[in-house]
Amino acid sequence: MDAQTCLKKLEYVGVLAFATVDKNGAPQIRNISAIHYEPDRMIFFTARGKAFCEELLTDGRVQVLGYTKFKEMIRLSAKAVPVSESEQEKWINVIFSEQPYLSNVYPGDTRKLAGIVFEIKDAEIEYFNLGVNPIFRESYTVGVGNLTQKGYVISEKCIACGNCLKNCPQSCIDIADKKAVIRPGNCLHCGNCLAVCPVGAVEKR
Ligand code: SF4
Ligand code: SF4
Repeated sequence: MDAQTCLKKLEYVGVLAFATVDKNGAPQIRNISAIHYEPDRMIFFTARGKAFCEELLTDGRVQVLGYTKFKEMIRLSAKAVPVSESEQEKWINVIFSEQPYLSNVYPGDTRKLAGIVFEIKDAEIEYFNLGVNPIFRESYTVGVGNLTQKGYVISEKCIACGNCLKNCPQSCIDIADKKAVIRPGNCLHCGNCLAVCPVGAVEKR
């Protein structure tokens, strides 16, 4: 798996959930399908008058979520920015040619007056597959996106008692050199290991 494959999978999903933050700091979420994919970025259309557009222009933070029929969750965290004025019309035409239903929504030149095109080119992508055993997760970046450390780690306090191994639903903890170690790619982030550790050796990142 890699970032480009994740973008391809999101393209197959088609309709994605886009979460933004409004002026009161409240989460807002919409389904968006007017999206064009390049190998390293995502370009999407909305209307200038929509609250969604205002939130993107004011704050810009966005999370995009897709879920495939193979139980794969793909989440992209990024900042969306408008494409340059000189490229707006070109991308509107590309998106409308790929999504013919849009011509019913914004016929003729109404699309140029109403429309604005944003791009996401720097992002962190989380891939989480619940359809395999053990489950599998990995994170990637596109552009200059940052990787955020999440999940659990086991410190030197570990006394190798084995409690966490017995209570891990994905059996993704090994004992090596008298210390427990989590395989992060197979970890659910459920927190069972932290709950049962008698010496506080499990830390949440
Ligand atoms: S968080 Fe859950 S899945 Fe991950 S290592 Fe701990 S017990 Fe296992
Ligand atoms: S429960 Fe705590 S002390 Fe026991 S093996 Fe796991 S991390 Fe180590």
